[in-house]
Amino acid sequence: MPHVITQSCCSDGSCVYACPVNCIHPTPDEPGFATAEMLYIDPVACVDCGACVSACPVGAIAPDTQLTERQLPFVELNAAFYPVREGKLPPTSKLAAVPEAPVVLPRPGGPLRVAVVGSGPAAMYAADELLTQQGVRVNVFEKLPTPYGLVRAGVAPDHQSTKRVTRLFDRIARMPGFSFYLNCEVGSDLTHDELLEHHHAVLYAVGAPDDRRLEVDGMGLPGTSTATEVVAWINGHPDFADLSVDLSGERVVIVGNGNVALDVARILTADPDDLARTDIADHALVALRNSQLQEVVIAARRGPAASAFTLPELIGLTSTSDVVLDSSDHDLVISDLADETDPLTRNKLEILANLSDAATAPTGKSRPRIRLTYGHTPQRVLGENVTDGIEFSVTGTDESRVIPTGLVLTSIGYRGKPIRGLPFDDMTAVVPNRGGRVIEPVGSEPVRGSYVAGWIKRGPTGFIGTNKSCAAQTVHNLVADYNDGLLVDPVHKVAALDRFVRGRRSAVIDAAGWKAIDDSEIARGGGQRPRDKFTTIAGMLEAAATAPAPTVRRRLLAGLRR
Ligand code: NAP
Repeated sequence: MPHVITQSCCSDGSCVYACPVNCIHPTPDEPGFATAEMLYIDPVACVDCGACVSACPVGAIAPDTQLTERQLPFVELNAAFYPVREGKLPPTSKLAAVPEAPVVLPRPGGPLRVAVVGSGPAAMYAADELLTQQGVRVNVFEKLPTPYGLVRAGVAPDHQSTKRVTRLFDRIARMPGFSFYLNCEVGSDLTHDELLEHHHAVLYAVGAPDDRRLEVDGMGLPGTSTATEVVAWINGHPDFADLSVDLSGERVVIVGNGNVALDVARILTADPDDLARTDIADHALVALRNSQLQEVVIAARRGPAASAFTLPELIGLTSTSDVVLDSSDHDLVISDLADETDPLTRNKLEILANLSDAATAPTGKSRPRIRLTYGHTPQRVLGENVTDGIEFSVTGTDESRVIPTGLVLTSIGYRGKPIRGLPFDDMTAVVPNRGGRVIEPVGSEPVRGSYVAGWIKRGPTGFIGTNKSCAAQTVHNLVADYNDGLLVDPVHKVAALDRFVRGRRSAVIDAAGWKAIDDSEIARGGGQRPRDKFTTIAGMLEAAATAPAPTVRRRLLAGLRR
């Protein structure tokens, strides 16, 4: 009864360290870990101890006898990662290398103090890594009243098991030495230099908050938007609650075929009754119930072998949704399959080859379908005052093709944005860095006390757990700099920070305020849904205000700890 890793694998490697027989690969120190679409359990070496099940923060691992029908393809997918062997091999006893925790050397200036900006996965994994050390203090600053970044506002609501990683983040936030300063924006409420007066270092884990924009005529017309904005709207992000998403037409066209495109297509075509059991925003659920959609087209500019979506997500999509392939693309898939040697890409192509032909597949089903099409490069969005179609050039021909639609969503990737006071590389949209140490673009001198982790460090690629090793690398370098005396002691005492922040931003929210928001959203869900989210800042602040005021004893204790 070997265990199996399934679709929601976050690749943070927690299972690797928990496994006593090193049967989960690639490990964080193996080549291929950074680009792996998921991790895989070797069915021959697995000893069924279940240690990985408890370690996995997103519930992605189960014994092969307890998989749902939809998860069964993952049995073969896990096994396919390992070479075919004769007979059962004894499990290897070699333990996966646990990355060395940085040892913070004591300094007369007091404990290491780090400000982390942002509260998504990279920020929380960085805090976790720092707090493995006694006495270290981590203050997490977030501009929204709610933490956890894209896990709350970017992961699709039907992927609730992926969102379970927030339980791990909640545990990190309860560790001694951790403080939240939510609803407080670094760059407007506080400056980088002011943070450095209170900390040895500032670590930015602010992600890539913008979208890459498609520069073609007609973008900007009503009826054009980006998939990431729609994901934020679906997830109830307060900045996108009023986004206009018109689902009164028959067809939506999504440009680009990464995992975000798949997420949006899956949600737009899902049964609203199923979504009603998730934490989807109410405004999105109402729009989906009234939707007239019959088809979502996902248009990629390159061929099937270059599909940007990952294999686990394709397996998931085809198990939940009605997916068809454009008629002309079947030949492309077959010819790509003939040339392809990479086993994972071959697996993707085999799934595509088995999809029904869009021209002959039965129509009139109860749910809208998803149509994949390849070799379509967008040329312009058509329409006078509103969108009524999109024109593509077709690869390998002189032809252009118009797909009629009232809603064009571009899904061509995220983009980092400059951070006030730090250098920025406009080409790659990341902060120039060496292993997370921010460096000047000319001369590569380190910028004192400044570090980055996550998408603003390495660009918008990878999965939630990819940020664990990324953040660990930054923290290791930060601690090395502290131990080498390269970080200047803060000007102010530890206790001064709270007063300073509240002076600047009286509506700052702490862990108790977040707990009040969290409890209130869960209660509003009424046991039928994981939570009913607040979609306005005012609603969040009102809920946070119901947090019990700290008792005098707690305030005194907190003061003593500082
Ligand atoms: P992505 O994976 O980088 O895909 C971008 C897509 O846009 C590609 O198909 C790309 O085509 C296309 N594209 C780029 N420029 C274009 C242009 N000018 N015209 C037409 N097409 C263009 O981006 P993403 O979907 O936003 O995902 C970002 C990251 O988040 C990825 O690492 C993804 O795996 C991850 N993510 C994971 C999950 C999950 O695991 N469930 C969910 C969401 C996101 P080319 O390949 O031809 O450039």
